[in-house]
Amino acid sequence: MTVSESVPVERTARATPISIIGMSGLREIVAVSSGMALIYTIAAMIIGGRPLLTLALVFAGLLFWTFLEYLLHRWMLHWEPEDKLQKTIRKCFPTHRSHHDAPMNERKNIKKQLKIIIYLMTAYCAFLALIGFPLAMVLAVNAGVLLGYQAYEYVHVACHHLPMKNAWAALLKRHHAIHHHRDETVNFGVTTTIWDSVFGTTWKPARAPTA
Ligand SMILES: [Zn+2]
Ligand SMILES: [Zn+2]
Repeated sequence: MTVSESVPVERTARATPISIIGMSGLREIVAVSSGMALIYTIAAMIIGGRPLLTLALVFAGLLFWTFLEYLLHRWMLHWEPEDKLQKTIRKCFPTHRSHHDAPMNERKNIKKQLKIIIYLMTAYCAFLALIGFPLAMVLAVNAGVLLGYQAYEYVHVACHHLPMKNAWAALLKRHHAIHHHRDETVNFGVTTTIWDSVFGTTWKPARAPTA
């Protein structure tokens, strides 16, 4: 049995790469994240005075996001402690249990998510600047992180709603479908499979027992 035969894939033929922007709060997420990324990039160029270096740092931030995406998905979104104290701490962080329970459902609380993006990113950048990182560098790297974040949100919705026929897109869709339908402890990457390979969490089909 092949992976594509064994993993249920959502029927999403009517959605298009453009139409999904209207789904699950993507339009708002893209508007806020790209707006913030643009402001951060311009501010970094003005403060630092080195446009090419700023663009290189934005790109570095974009790559750094792929690691953050893995880290947050594996260790925050899937953190489900049994301990009473840890359960209380856990309430302070987002979970995506409801997404796993109903992957095709539209996101309900987009306003809350947008507030988290704006406040958390602003506080994070202020903290890094206060402990001594150059403000221009902090803004440029996190502009890239914001761009990576919105790419993640788009690819994630696409994985659930688009047929994803080209080889790379089909690989991402299958990778994420396995995470949902076969094993939640593997395949945490959404925009890339690289970090699952690095941390050894890529799903491997069970080998048939040998006689
Ligand atoms: Zn998950
Ligand atoms: Zn998903």
